[in-house]
This record gives sequence, structure tokens and C-alpha cells, in this order.
Amino acid sequence: MSHILDGKKVAQKLKDRLKIEIENIKSKFDCVPGLAVVQVGNVAASSVYVKAKTKAAKEVGINVFDHHLEATTNQDELINLINQLNNSEDIDGILVQLPLPKTINEEVVLNSILPEKDADGFHPLNVGKLSISPKNDENLMIPCTPYGCLLLLKELNIELVGKNAVVIGRSNIVGKPMTQLLLKESCTVTTVHSKTVDIESICKNADILIVAIGKPEFVNKDWVKEGAVIIDVGINRVKINEKKSKLVGDVLFNDVEPKVSAISPVPGGVGPMTIACLLRNTTTSCKNRLIN
Ligand code: NAP
Repeated sequence: MSHILDGKKVAQKLKDRLKIEIENIKSKFDCVPGLAVVQVGNVAASSVYVKAKTKAAKEVGINVFDHHLEATTNQDELINLINQLNNSEDIDGILVQLPLPKTINEEVVLNSILPEKDADGFHPLNVGKLSISPKNDENLMIPCTPYGCLLLLKELNIELVGKNAVVIGRSNIVGKPMTQLLLKESCTVTTVHSKTVDIESICKNADILIVAIGKPEFVNKDWVKEGAVIIDVGINRVKINEKKSKLVGDVLFNDVEPKVSAISPVPGGVGPMTIACLLRNTTTSCKNRLIN
């Protein structure tokens, strides 16, 4: 029987810790971290994520400033808003929910957020800092999903040093920063992608396998080593019948689970950790402003 990595439980532990940190900030500095949540349009999945992030932020004592803009908002209008948020003393973190409407250049918008207020950790300066800093430093703004994966791994209290880690996927928001984080934990990291030759045999050599592809139940037991640790980042909605659908990961859970030592489920694995790490970044930004 493998250990099921309970993301909800680990995320709650992190949120409990943040709540105490925020109470301490409040009593010492008479302010709390502020998070601006910006959504453009009404993509249903985005609304679900925004609601979950807002609720979680309020629970730990972060002030949330909600900016829900019309789908017709243009790039200049959005950047004007971001400039206002950049200049506001009430705001420590700015989250722009992706995807943005096709008429808006996401890269330009994300780069307009001040790096110190970049709650998602996507700004090139933060990406650079993550890559060159020797440790996974507590002052860094770190992309939320991969940092959540790392915290899940750390929860297992296993030695990471020298382990063979394989990351499937090389996106800017998951795969690449995941590779950086594991490298700094002194894992030997291989990043594979859609052009990798004989991906299966590389994955079979992994002590730690992080899967972030976006293909439902793609990785089966033939890809994994006995006793490996599997983190499934994928979130895929699949149809069960005409009326019903369900969420599955990128890993065929029931097939892989008996073979491995630990695995994160979908849902209830990486998802809650991503939200908790957004709150962590916002609190980190506030501490950096007040203390460091
Ligand atoms: P993405 O930008 O589409 O990147 C997918 C990556 O997978 C790419 O690097 C791609 O390779 C690689 N890939 C695609 N097909 C492959 C194949 N057959 N073999 C090997 N590699 C393959 O996706 P993403 O944003 O990283 O997200 C990945 C998944 O994680 C999605 O299901 C997404 O919904 C989920 N996600 C979850 C959370 C969470 O909070 N739990 C957060 C973010 C994302 P190429 O680069 O060669 O195209």
C-alpha cells in the first residue's frame, strides 16, 4: 500500500502557519498582507479558481481586493489597473488569473506586475532569482504549483539529496521551475517533454516522478519504478457519460498506486497546495516589504 499524499491536509498546515504569521505581522506593524485578484471575463474554470483563492486568502487573514473586469477590457486598461495596484500600499501580491482573452498579450501583462508583488512568481526577475539562488530561499517569490509539489515531497521526510528526479513537462509555470527547485534540493534532475525519445525508460529510472503534461491518465505502471514517489500535477476533466464528468490527473492512479511508495491524488493533491503557496507568496512579499 502506498502513502497517499493528502494535499488538503498539508495545505491546511501551511495555512495555519501563515495565519499565525499574519497575526504577528498585524500586532507588530498594524497591517496585514493585501492580495489583488484580477479576472478578465467569465471563463467558468477561472471563476472557480478565483473563488477558491479568495476564500483561502480571507481565511488566513489576507485582505483581498477583487477586480473582476469585463471580457471586452483591452490590454491598456488592464495594464493601467496593474500600475495602480503596483503603486498601492495596501497591495503586496497581484494575481492575474489566466487565461486572458486572446486580444491581450499575457506576457506583457505579467511582466508589468512589479516583481516584488508577483504573487504567482512568473516575472522574469523572480524566475532568474529562483534559478541563481543557491537555496530554495524563504524570501523568494516561487511559482506556486511546483513549490506546492516540493512541499508535498518534504512532507514525506525522505532524503531528496542524490535522488533521480524526472519532471515530465517543461512549461514556464510548472515543469521548468520544478526542475530548478529539485536541482537545489540536490536531486539529479531530468526534464522530459513531447520530443523526448524513449520517455518511458527515463521515467522508469526515477525515484521521484513529477508529471505535468495535461493528458488524462497518460502515465501507467509500466512507466514507474517500484517504490517511486509520484506527484501528479495534471488536472483534466473527462466525461463519464452524457451528463457527468470527473477530474483525473495525468497518472492512471489505480494502476500506478500499488507499485509506488507514495502518490498524490487528483483532486486533493497538488491543487490545494497551489492555492496555499499563493498565500505564502503574498505573505512573503509583505514580510519582505516590512522586515527585510
Ligand atoms: P502545458 O503548458 O500545456 O505544458 C505541458 C507540457 O507537457 C509541455 O512541456 C509538453 O511538451 C509536455 N507534453 C505534452 N505531451 C507530452 C507527451 N506525450 N509526452 C511528454 N511530454 C508531453 O501545461 P502546464 O501548464 O504545465 O500544465 C500541465 C498540467 O498540469 C495540466 O493538466 C494543468 O491543468 C495542470 N496544472 C495543475 C495545477 C494545479 O494547481 N494542480 C497548476 C497548473 C497546471 P512540449 O513542451 O514539448 O510541448
